Amino acid sequence: MSDKKILLCLAHMSGQEMKYIQEAFDTNWVVPLGPNVDAFEVDLEHLCGEGKHVVVLSSGTAAIHLALVNLGVSRGDEVICQSMTFSASANPITYQGATPVFVDSERDSWNMDPNLLEEAIKDRIAKTGRKPKAIIPVYLYGMPARIDDIMEIAHRYEIPVVEDSAEAFGSRYRGRLCGTFGKFGIMSFNGNKMITTSGGGALICSDEASKKKTMFYATQSREPMPYYLHKEIGYNYRMSNICAGIGRGQMTVLEEHLAHHRHLCDRYVELLGNAEGIMVHTNPDERYDSNYWLNTILVEPDKAGVDYDAIRQHLQDCNIESRPLWKPMHTQPVFSGAPAYVNGVSEELFAKGLCLPSGPCVSDEDVERVCREILACCK
Ligand SMILES: *Cc1c(COP(=O)(O)O)cnc(C)c1O
Repeated sequence: MSDKKILLCLAHMSGQEMKYIQEAFDTNWVVPLGPNVDAFEVDLEHLCGEGKHVVVLSSGTAAIHLALVNLGVSRGDEVICQSMTFSASANPITYQGATPVFVDSERDSWNMDPNLLEEAIKDRIAKTGRKPKAIIPVYLYGMPARIDDIMEIAHRYEIPVVEDSAEAFGSRYRGRLCGTFGKFGIMSFNGNKMITTSGGGALICSDEASKKKTMFYATQSREPMPYYLHKEIGYNYRMSNICAGIGRGQMTVLEEHLAHHRHLCDRYVELLGNAEGIMVHTNPDERYDSNYWLNTILVEPDKAGVDYDAIRQHLQDCNIESRPLWKPMHTQPVFSGAPAYVNGVSEELFAKGLCLPSGPCVSDEDVERVCREILACCK
């Protein structure tokens, strides 16, 4: 246990963050609005490209929630959500009193299976007489989904798409930034994500009106009157000017962070690629351009001679953090009553997968140590 601890994914500061935080203090903008908030939104709009409008918020979860509020999701509605994900994708559906309908993944991207999505839409219409109110695909560990196919189906049934790109900051599909395909896209700047604001998120909107409405909801739905007049339920979801300062600093190293995450993926492939029964998850073809937020492997126990959990425990004994993949939502006790359209893929991924240390705080030597221990375990 004398070796240094290697953690899954740590925040990494550029050195620029303090400058923006200092500015906030010097000008006394220690509130949930101010110059850093405005400038961080401009930075993000620049990244998203033409026609997109961004609102920075207190978390990615708040961003999903406000996307659903914008779409009028309410009691009795159904919202389709990828099953293989973190619970934050699905929780906001229930905040609105709506029911999540879970759809399983396809093997290449590990994300929403478009065929199963269409089957689910047809079956929900047949069973309830109503269309689902929204579709939430997710970009697991940064890997793009088959978003063209998902968008085609969504257009045909006229159901808006909310892309959960919390893990896919900077990932692209056919050169286009993940989060900019649907009516709404969400970003997360939690401590362990691609970039951090210590905690925070953003909603990518397709028009100026949605941005204005989102800012209205995020600041307690206050009507433009000298006194406090409210006609709708509001939320306190705006990002603070301090957090936005951290975000501005982080944006200065985004390209370096992306390059490092992708470099580590190449190293994992190089060192584990020939190991029997170990598969490093990589871009299925040239349309996909993952940020490799977390590098992931699948372990075939009959070929590797061990299962993923034996590897996880061995790594833990060697002072290396790893983590099982997300446990599918349709297998979570809290969502046991929700309809689900499954094909076995997400449950198999959960039974075989492991997330490995990634990000700017992980060095080439660290990856060598991780891989050496994984291979030692397999023999
Ligand atoms: C992190 C995450 C979120 C939520 O983001 P927070 O900023 O932590 O609220 C949502 N969906 C997925 C898939 C995530 O990984």
